Amino acid sequence: MSDIVPVLKNMTFSELEDYVLSLGEKKFRAKQIFKRMYEGASSADEFTDLPKSLRGRLAEEASFNAVTMRAKQISKDGTRKYLFDVPGGDAVESVFMHYKYGWSICISSQAGCRMGCAFCASGMKGLSRSLTAGEIVDQIVSVSRDAGERAGHVVVMGIGEPFDNYDELIKALGIIHDERGLGIGARNVTVSTCGLVDRIYDFAQDMPQVGLAVSLHAPNDDIRHQIMPISKKYSMDELMKACRDYTEATHRRITFEYALIEGVNDRDENARELAARLRGMLCHVNLIPINSVEEKPYSSSSRQRAEAFAEILGSRGITATIRRQLGADISAACGQLRLQETE
Ligand code: SAH
Repeated sequence: MSDIVPVLKNMTFSELEDYVLSLGEKKFRAKQIFKRMYEGASSADEFTDLPKSLRGRLAEEASFNAVTMRAKQISKDGTRKYLFDVPGGDAVESVFMHYKYGWSICISSQAGCRMGCAFCASGMKGLSRSLTAGEIVDQIVSVSRDAGERAGHVVVMGIGEPFDNYDELIKALGIIHDERGLGIGARNVTVSTCGLVDRIYDFAQDMPQVGLAVSLHAPNDDIRHQIMPISKKYSMDELMKACRDYTEATHRRITFEYALIEGVNDRDENARELAARLRGMLCHVNLIPINSVEEKPYSSSSRQRAEAFAEILGSRGITATIRRQLGADISAACGQLRLQETE
């Protein structure tokens, strides 16, 4: 453990056991700490089932929290958006949304991003740093505690490119799934990538039960080159092959995200080409009318255009839905709160 003060949420269950043993305590204390910590206990005195002496030591020698809430906005529809400080002077966002099936949390994987997608606010200042597993996990715990609601679903679709922080992501997912703590099943977790092909292969091996979303946003390399620099590293053919191989290995349906940008990727011919690309794949297309970012020249397609686009996909056998906008009055585009607050 390289932390000066060990951050307990950075530890897997077995790492926590080792840590507890290193304090000269009995191993079963790890189980108590892990359980209470993921129920939301955030300071030593809340661990009432631990002996006073151990509570005192933990208070002095360890840290329960990896992120600190700085700002919160609550929308009329109940959506909650949070800004968390992370050590080192940066901040990340999390969003808590209510659906029919319960609460879902969208968390960040990095402070900033180096993928540079043209329409996205998160990457405008580049990457500040990747988050630790504890900082990824603590967003869930802190939001649930604040809202008084358990997160049933997790999507790693906030700030950052999760596959650019692969090892900490995988560690965080392990902690999130652990039934002795949060116990959020892999099937209730989705990770979104802009298309780091090598990592899609790794992910199919390492986390075959976790959902995968791929930000496609274009039907071909020409358009993708205009808006997503990563497409210069991995061509659409390579990406599509990785997606097919992923499905073959995992039998999981991929979600393709497609942000509709007026005049850039939203024409009928784009929909037809996309349908041809995706033919025969086990997939779903999530059409997202783009949130316009003040500093960027892109605007959203009209509702009518989005519906026409979805219709073309549907008539060609590709299921597509237009994403419902939650928190429209507060959230603005992904990464914008951080941008405002860290200027
Ligand atoms: N880096 C990952 C996950 C974070 S972004 C990825 O690219 O998938 C989550 C999603 O929001 C991605 O599909 C991203 O392309 C999209 N997005 C970014 N900026 C947006 C905007 N201004 N409007 C709509 N969607 C946006």
